[in-house]
Amino acid sequence: MMWNDDYYHMIEKHFESETMVRVANSHRTAIGFVEKTVTTEGIECEFKRVNGYLFPLSNSKEYLEMIDKELVAARRAGLTDVTTVNLGGDPSAGRIHEALEFPGCADFQPLYYLNGLADAIVNKYGCRIFEDSQVMKTDGPKVTTKEGYRVEAPNVVLATNSPIHHNLAVHSRQEPYRSYVVGLRIPKDGFREGQYWDTATPYHYVRTEEHPREGNILIVGGEDHQTGMKPKDYEDKWMKLEDWARSRWTAAGETVFKWSGEVFEPIDMLHLIGKDPLNDFQAGAIYYIATGDSGQGMTGGTLAGLIICDEILGRENPFSKIYSPSRAPPASFQTLEELASISKTVTQGLAENLNPFYCKDIEDMQPCSGAIVQKGLHKVAVYVDEKGEKHTYNAVCPHMGCLIQVIVPSFLSELK
Ligand SMILES: Cc1cc2nc3c(=O)[nH]c(=O)nc-3n(C[C@H](O)[C@H](O)[C@H](O)COP(=O)(O)OP(=O)(O)OC[C@H]3O[C@@H](n4cnc5c(N)ncnc54)[C@H](O)[C@@H]3O)c2cc1C
Repeated sequence: MMWNDDYYHMIEKHFESETMVRVANSHRTAIGFVEKTVTTEGIECEFKRVNGYLFPLSNSKEYLEMIDKELVAARRAGLTDVTTVNLGGDPSAGRIHEALEFPGCADFQPLYYLNGLADAIVNKYGCRIFEDSQVMKTDGPKVTTKEGYRVEAPNVVLATNSPIHHNLAVHSRQEPYRSYVVGLRIPKDGFREGQYWDTATPYHYVRTEEHPREGNILIVGGEDHQTGMKPKDYEDKWMKLEDWARSRWTAAGETVFKWSGEVFEPIDMLHLIGKDPLNDFQAGAIYYIATGDSGQGMTGGTLAGLIICDEILGRENPFSKIYSPSRAPPASFQTLEELASISKTVTQGLAENLNPFYCKDIEDMQPCSGAIVQKGLHKVAVYVDEKGEKHTYNAVCPHMGCLIQVIVPSFLSELK
């Protein structure tokens, strides 16, 4: 997206204007790189440029002012083609009236794109990709997999969404959030092409996708919250998304998909890409990380590829500095309230992990149920599927060592 999830006017408020200009430039560069790669490698991923629309959640003064401020900041950031438009309240455009239009956003099927990249990497450039190879240990230049295979390299890139090497210097710089998505059937003429998102906190966004079996689908996402904060509210979040979307895209019908996932929100709004801040302790190899993408992993991931490649090859990159994981966040960011909220969540999760736990016998568990079970010294997350098969996982989150929570959404428990 040309827009930044955290608003250009917020970046301008906390950083120098030069940083905001670079952020906008980095988005333009990432989208341009994807477009060029799609053409050069002949990747069929339905890539197209579309308009993005930021619209006020309501006509309240607060939201209208946000739109005005964002227009001014986006233009100052160098996105001079951003304008205010009136979409006329048309239901195929979410009954939106006034909105900010960001031309040139990228719309593509990320999995087709990834497949195309993997294909080119292996068949054209002669590299090798090893799937299902979980890294269990990193030790300087040595990286060891679950099966005991070892790879040695002078440069190691941890592109594992959140870095896997327990680096507090990184984990204290970003917060995990859970984000929700529903897919609703919608006729093609029920949706005017574009990407849409509102000014709510947390925000809502909309796109469409032609599904091979289910037809045209309105993808509606948002309702993010800090991971682990409201575990019982999952159903509610999906329902809220459905209601929000149906009241705007009135042709939207049955819900055919729902899922949720985690995003990592850097406390100072910018991706964390580049040399690991504690790299000096990793003798013998340089470690790089790519994380803190918020909901912008397609641009963030592309930028990570460009920046880290340049850094390994000793080339200058115009975006290295603004996204460096070693940067000092502006003092204006960490409010005492935020710090207290993060440490409360982490302390609670760690305490749950250390305390003796209620021991439920796995054998008593019913199909389509889940629980945390104490097995000797370890806590195990168990899910029993609709056929009664038991799936067990380590119940300790590798992020900061907190105990995870097991929630089985009603649409899964109804399967039984
Ligand atoms: C619901 C939802 C909607 C989103 N919508 C958008 C959107 O519209 N646009 C956008 O730009 N972004 C979006 N995002 C964000 C985007 O999906 C993520 O930021 C992006 O996928 C992160 O990419 P990544 O490669 O860093 O991590 P991932 O995609 O999570 O990939 C990390 C990989 O590392 C592997 N891994 C982890 N640990 C190990 C290990 N120990 N050994 C070996 N491999 C390991 C994992 O298996 C995985 O394959 C969305 C995210 C969510 C959750």
